[in-house]
Amino acid sequence: MNDFRWPSNIYYTLDLLPSGLARAIMKLWWSRPAIDPERCRNCNVCVESCPVEALKAGAVIPEFDYSRCINCLCCMEVCPHAAFYQDRSLLYRFTGLFSGVLK
Ligand code: SF4
Ligand code: SF4
Repeated sequence: MNDFRWPSNIYYTLDLLPSGLARAIMKLWWSRPAIDPERCRNCNVCVESCPVEALKAGAVIPEFDYSRCINCLCCMEVCPHAAFYQDRSLLYRFTGLFSGVLK
């Protein structure tokens, strides 16, 4: 795709880099839902809500397949026990110190 553009805000600086380098950086710069096992009751409400089957039932807590996840956060919204949190890569947290992404 020749006319691809990264979304606005923090991504705009990636437009200044070669696309291969920008994609490599994006693999290290992520924020995604995760489950706190201390709060999870393994009710599987989140599993049923995922539109792309990126969550499956597990023995103790549901398991993610992050390669399928589209980061829609439906699972986080429906959890009746507030067991979700946003997991963030080291690079994401580091850049957040300068960009104001992390509040
Ligand atoms: S909806 Fe919440 S409590 Fe239920 S399985 Fe998912 S994370 Fe655990
Ligand atoms: S963020 Fe969306 S796609 Fe990812 S696991 Fe949750 S419901 Fe599924």
